Amino acid sequence: MHILVINCGSSSVKSEIINTISGDRILEMNIHRILDTPIIECDGEEIHCEKTGHDFVLNKAFPLLLQKIGDITINAIGHRVVHGGQAFDEPVMITNEVKKAIEELNPLAPLHNPINLLGIQIAEQYFTDIPHVAVFDTAFHATLPRRAKTYAIPHTLSQKYNIQRYGFHGTSHEYVAKEAARFLNSNIKDLRIITCHLGNGSSMAAIEYGRSVETSMGMTPLEGLVMGTRSGDIDAGILLYLQQKENLSIKEIDDLLNKKSGLKGISGDTNDMRDIIEKAAQGDDHCRLAIQVFAHRIRKYIGAYSAVMGGVDVIVFTGGIGENSPMVRHRSTQRLDYLGAIINEDKNHDIHLSKDNPIGEFSWNHSKVKLLAIQTDEQLSIARQTEKLIQEDLKVNTIPPIPVAISARHIHLSRETLDQLFGEGYELTVKKPLSQPGQFAANETVQVIGPKNQFETVRILGPVRSKNQLEISRTDEFFLGIDAPIRESGKTENTPGCVLVGPKGKVQIHDGVICAWRHIHMTPQDAEIFGVVDRDIVDVKIQSDERSLVFGNVLIRVSPKYKLEMHIDTDEGNAAEIGKGATGVLYITTDGNAQLTKKKLKTV
Ligand code: AMP
Repeated sequence: MHILVINCGSSSVKSEIINTISGDRILEMNIHRILDTPIIECDGEEIHCEKTGHDFVLNKAFPLLLQKIGDITINAIGHRVVHGGQAFDEPVMITNEVKKAIEELNPLAPLHNPINLLGIQIAEQYFTDIPHVAVFDTAFHATLPRRAKTYAIPHTLSQKYNIQRYGFHGTSHEYVAKEAARFLNSNIKDLRIITCHLGNGSSMAAIEYGRSVETSMGMTPLEGLVMGTRSGDIDAGILLYLQQKENLSIKEIDDLLNKKSGLKGISGDTNDMRDIIEKAAQGDDHCRLAIQVFAHRIRKYIGAYSAVMGGVDVIVFTGGIGENSPMVRHRSTQRLDYLGAIINEDKNHDIHLSKDNPIGEFSWNHSKVKLLAIQTDEQLSIARQTEKLIQEDLKVNTIPPIPVAISARHIHLSRETLDQLFGEGYELTVKKPLSQPGQFAANETVQVIGPKNQFETVRILGPVRSKNQLEISRTDEFFLGIDAPIRESGKTENTPGCVLVGPKGKVQIHDGVICAWRHIHMTPQDAEIFGVVDRDIVDVKIQSDERSLVFGNVLIRVSPKYKLEMHIDTDEGNAAEIGKGATGVLYITTDGNAQLTKKKLKTV
């Protein structure tokens, strides 16, 4: 497909027609200095505008672009929108409702969203007969767990003003994480990746088995790493202190943090890392300090994010600085041997990324953690997300409902643990067969003891497995006093343990306690009907008598052994007030907001 990607920023606009398969650019139009001396560059032509401002310049630029497009077919337009707030957790077809929702998010991104929206509105006047899609910078981080996105301020204020960590650069973090998995011949859902997007704006993300679980930017793009002109993390007390001492207005504090800090503030000179590196080499102490603070903050976050994910498999560097500066990569990743990340200095120096060579590895072969520099391509990612959305929207409506089953807390035991709890060679006895072929609820139960409380009887599900796995709900977790991560079945690495007691013994298991990731079992034939593949993540609307509910982030599990069924835990079942015989309907795509859902529910 050919997708026109429009990235309408406050002082410049970048637009490209991209072939989504090859990534080739068919035509480009760039507009610079819109607010002072606007110049439109398109297909070798350069036009100087007599007036400034987006309205005037875009109304001149889009007709020119249309003329240059001639008879090239464009299938859709993908618009970059910076803030999707809580309303948008994935790309969405633009409608009047969607535009209104983007406008309502203006207070969260006053410098970006109004301009993004203006770009959409003007483009719609010229490109009338093709779909327009919005792709949000925040969407990839919508999976952040509550513990990561909540600020420790009164919850009444957070709720009133939608204050939470949203995160940005999502398109880039997602793109390079997927490229890393592809390069390593792995599935992203098997990897814990830390991505460092280091450019004029910089941020990092912890991507655990395909989902963003932490990111350094917050409600606004000001939090986190040291940036070109932004401070990143700062003690809020400093602002109160400076406000008093210097009698600063809100606008002056805003300017101080967004425009005068970061590399520019510390160096006292420039926000350009190349110049800072050069001056540091000539002995400028402020520039030396700027580099040290910049890299120290990245190292600190690498340690923090490894702790959050219980380890790391890949660390990726991208953005103008991450892609091009061996020195910054070296300073950020040296002495990470304790994590299993061992930098190969020669390879690091030899990396020269280009379109034909967009990925370079700079770890030793024996390094457990892979270190990669990857050229990001946010425009291509926007084009591909746009293409995916419109293809899904064209799909025909032939999908059956999915039965929903509630899994009460239960445990799977290994042969060894069963022997320890019930005696050598003990065989479980069948109380009731389960819907998944070969599985059964056993008559036997165990006592589960956590740091805070205990459950006297937890049902064992058979047959025995290679690893122990205790599946509990969030409510159970707080009752037992265990902090269990959300995991798919079988992924028990770096999870907490507990004590188990059976009739013949007591065992301390060191890992295996999880909150099961809600999931749908299906056969390959079902998967074909639904248009999904194993380990896709989808949204499901539960049709309940009492209270319908949409569950996001549902994992698809495909195997010829499975029977079509969705499994949720007791908390989730209670939330939807699910009775017997409830069914779910797979949303092919959603806006992540019930009010805004305008896409077809594809059901028979
Ligand atoms: P971006 O915002 O991703 O375009 O990145 C811009 C930043 O990348 C600026 O600070 C540039 O100085 C920096 N940069 C570009 N090339 C290099 C390089 N070879 N070495 C160090 N920094 C670079």
